[in-house]
Amino acid sequence: MKNLIAANWKMNPNSQKEAKEIFDAIREGTKGLDPEVVVCPPSVYLYASGFGEGIIAMGAQNVYFEEKGAFTGEISAGMLKDLGIEYVIIGHSERRKYFGETDETVNKKIKIALAVGLKIIFCVGETAEERDGGKKNEVLKRQVQNGLKDVFDIDNVNVAYEPVWAIGTGNNCGVAETKEALDFIRQLVKKDTRILYGGSVKSENSGEYIKDAGANGLLVGGASLNADEFVKIIKSAE
Ligand code: PEP
Repeated sequence: MKNLIAANWKMNPNSQKEAKEIFDAIREGTKGLDPEVVVCPPSVYLYASGFGEGIIAMGAQNVYFEEKGAFTGEISAGMLKDLGIEYVIIGHSERRKYFGETDETVNKKIKIALAVGLKIIFCVGETAEERDGGKKNEVLKRQVQNGLKDVFDIDNVNVAYEPVWAIGTGNNCGVAETKEALDFIRQLVKKDTRILYGGSVKSENSGEYIKDAGANGLLVGGASLNADEFVKIIKSAE
């Protein structure tokens, strides 16, 4: 099982030109390597960035849970698949926080995405309040079990443990604490499900999540917009 290194560009960068530059630099920097890398740019760049070339797979940051119809602004799983997109991030904490994503909508999205043959990066993670209140495992269990309710085809699901307090803060989760959370999640899913870590990953700390915490990959936000830095992260996970 290869480690999966995923880039979540969020709502960046500002132009197609910049997106292409980062994309090309990642492809160039990973020549001769054999990692599994997926870049998830904003959906407008999914087509523009030269997807499908080289070793880089393309992923979307979201998908809608209905097949088609009058859902202004949404993108269906079938459309992503038709475009050659391989992965989709579902349940990111920013979508839960700002866009009303719930365990139920996450579950519906996972099901429809799997049904068309997309691979999933399913994000779970506790907030600072939940962690401080001793509710971390309860939250992780609820999110994993509800998100995967009646999902039988789990082979294409990767779970990303992303403590909300660690995302975009520079306050990455310690290795021991990450290991504990990954081990806890591992008991809730199939034995060979890949469990990733995400939250302020940089090239200085990326290797230890793989080597010491037992992560099967990384979900990288801010640092993935810097191609040199992202390539170093990919190399640290080889
Ligand atoms: C993310 O957006 O999934 C993420 C982990 O962001 P960052 O690496 O910037 O903390």
